[in-house]
Amino acid sequence: MSLKSGSNEEISQVKSSCKLALKELSRWMIPEKVKTSLTTYPSSAEIVSEPLGVVLVISTWNFPFLLSLDPVIGAISAGNAVVLKPSEIAPATSLLLSNLVEEYLDKSAIRVVEGSVDETTALLEQKWDKILYTGSARVGRIVMAAAAKHLTPVILELGGKCPAVVDSNINLQVAVRRIIYGKWACNNGQACIGVDYIITTKDFAPKLIDALKYELEQFFGKDPMESKDMSRIVSSSHFARLAMLMDDDLVSDKIVLGGQRDVNQLKIAPTILLDVPEDAQIMQEEIFGPLMPILTVQKVEDSFKIIQSKPKPLAAYLFTNDEQLKKNFVQNISSGGMLINDTIIHVATDGLPFGGVGESGMGSYHGKFSFDAFSHKKAVLYRSFDADASIRYPPYTTQKQRL
Ligand code: NAD
Repeated sequence: MSLKSGSNEEISQVKSSCKLALKELSRWMIPEKVKTSLTTYPSSAEIVSEPLGVVLVISTWNFPFLLSLDPVIGAISAGNAVVLKPSEIAPATSLLLSNLVEEYLDKSAIRVVEGSVDETTALLEQKWDKILYTGSARVGRIVMAAAAKHLTPVILELGGKCPAVVDSNINLQVAVRRIIYGKWACNNGQACIGVDYIITTKDFAPKLIDALKYELEQFFGKDPMESKDMSRIVSSSHFARLAMLMDDDLVSDKIVLGGQRDVNQLKIAPTILLDVPEDAQIMQEEIFGPLMPILTVQKVEDSFKIIQSKPKPLAAYLFTNDEQLKKNFVQNISSGGMLINDTIIHVATDGLPFGGVGESGMGSYHGKFSFDAFSHKKAVLYRSFDADASIRYPPYTTQKQRL
């Protein structure tokens, strides 16, 4: 499946999730036979998937259609009723979802509740059978605390600082185009699995930066602020946060490309910063915008320590042709997902679970993992009345204990 950024892609991914569920559901539902032990002989056993009940999906704004409906598809496939709370920060999509669900879907099984903090707080006071929340770790903690009161299980789809490690033995043009896609072409950096920062070697950094500059101009023109393919920043508060990261005294002289911004249009140009200090704010929090710090190291393997010193990211990217480096990266870096020699598109592989680890979240979904995420896996053992071994029953005589 190809991945373009923008709303077309969101719609096509939702369609493909629906098609997959319709095609595979009867297979996903089949109880899974498992082996039994000598202790229960003779017997048979299976794992039966059953619906959890009524689930709550709280969605976010950056892919407001996909991140609302994809979890809903999983919840409905598994036989649950769902309440969806879209993000108030994408109000047009929230309203559209509410209208379309009301018009076309079964109201006894799916409802949309629009609203912001007050409405979400009221929803969280109810008892749910599962909650899937997509958004920030800050609100994730609020959701989990509210769920704990009812012992409700949660899936938290959060974010983090997704690194891209760039080795020198690569197809530079392809790598750079894919990095640009994974940073600026996807919502101008406002994507949970967007590249947050790059680590490369000191020697290779100038070549990489030249290639980034060249390809950025091919994609967005000489003046990216005029490009129709460049997303705006979602709100003035996010704009102010990004401006603060750029104006930090520790990094303001590190900008090697971009830096232009227009608060009235909420636009920020692709901005590259070289050798920012690790204690600068831009390296302490998820950027979620078009600023790209590049850190340099002596050897590419030195990047591992930097990544390991931070909370576990939702995605980690590596560009290399070195097979041993690929192996070491997979074995030593912990992240929700991982993609070698590309960015973002692992999300479109239905056979892979999508979710975070540690600070980037818990639980996962997509494809069959969505069905499983919203099912209870009931353990069922079948026995006959045969072979009723007396050894398990009292009195526990010495003779029985010897057996
Ligand atoms: P957010 O956490 O502020 O909001 C998301 C949802 O939480 C909205 O529906 C909102 O109404 C609700 N909400 C906000 N404040 C609340 C409160 N105090 N109490 C209860 N509910 C509240 O979203 P954000 O911070 O703008 O989103 C960006 C974050 O989301 C980034 O960290 C990004 O990486 C992450 N994200 C993750 C994924 C993923 O699939 N893992 C996808 C997109 C975004």
